[in-house]
Amino acid sequence: MSKYIPRRIINAHTHYHVGELEMTAQRWQAAGLQKTCMCGIGEQNSLDTLACAKRFPDLVVPFGHIDLSKRDPNEVDRRKEQGFTGLKFIVTPVPYGDDSLMPIYERAAKYNMPAVFHTGWVAGGGAVRSLNMTPSELEPVAKHLPDWKFVIAHIGNWWAEDGICFLQHHKNVYGDLSGGFLRCQPPSWLRGLFLRQPDKNLRVIDEVVDYSLFKKLVFATDNPPLEELLEFYVNLLNWLQVPIEIQDMIYYGNMAAMLGLEAATVQSAKL
Ligand SMILES: [Zn+2]
Repeated sequence: MSKYIPRRIINAHTHYHVGELEMTAQRWQAAGLQKTCMCGIGEQNSLDTLACAKRFPDLVVPFGHIDLSKRDPNEVDRRKEQGFTGLKFIVTPVPYGDDSLMPIYERAAKYNMPAVFHTGWVAGGGAVRSLNMTPSELEPVAKHLPDWKFVIAHIGNWWAEDGICFLQHHKNVYGDLSGGFLRCQPPSWLRGLFLRQPDKNLRVIDEVVDYSLFKKLVFATDNPPLEELLEFYVNLLNWLQVPIEIQDMIYYGNMAAMLGLEAATVQSAKL
């Protein structure tokens, strides 16, 4: 059976690794990678990300980390002035949707800086309250700033049902399937996230894949190399027979629109 392999890819969420792009950029660009949104975490890592973007200006789109514990919207101005295109949010002392954080998001929206929010469990670090980072904690943000576009990384890990439904109800929000959690789950669980019944009152006992749910996904790798996540996305989307037009939105079109690149067109290749 032939598999759809994308020819154009935007990585919505990755991180800086010393020397990685020097080794891989050519290979990944040959595989279709056009842009990679590199998210800093902490000050030094954000600066490393920015320096990497200067070395690979056609490829790397830098996202600067905003430390939410400072509760300072001027941090957004600082990142803008430094040259960051987007913003990264991870770990927060209060829920993402807390009123005290809203001025930060408003400033980001004013500059039209897209964002990546970590959602779900955080690997490593100190005492972290993951409940502050559930997808639904971003509901007040998505409603208050309906034109500000952001990605919920990992669609909440084990809160993936919450994540999928959240995406469905907010046109400005997208989700990525990166991270170790989702990829380890049973195929039936993954498929179940996208299953709906054709009749809401159970007059017909059936379950069908609702392809509209895929329209709000984006491709992302987080820390692993491109090939690893590409294999997962390709296997998942081909197994569930997601229409090519929607796959192209996931791999390219949604992020192209978010970053203000040209409108997406479908390019396909067969294995
Ligand atoms: Zn990440």
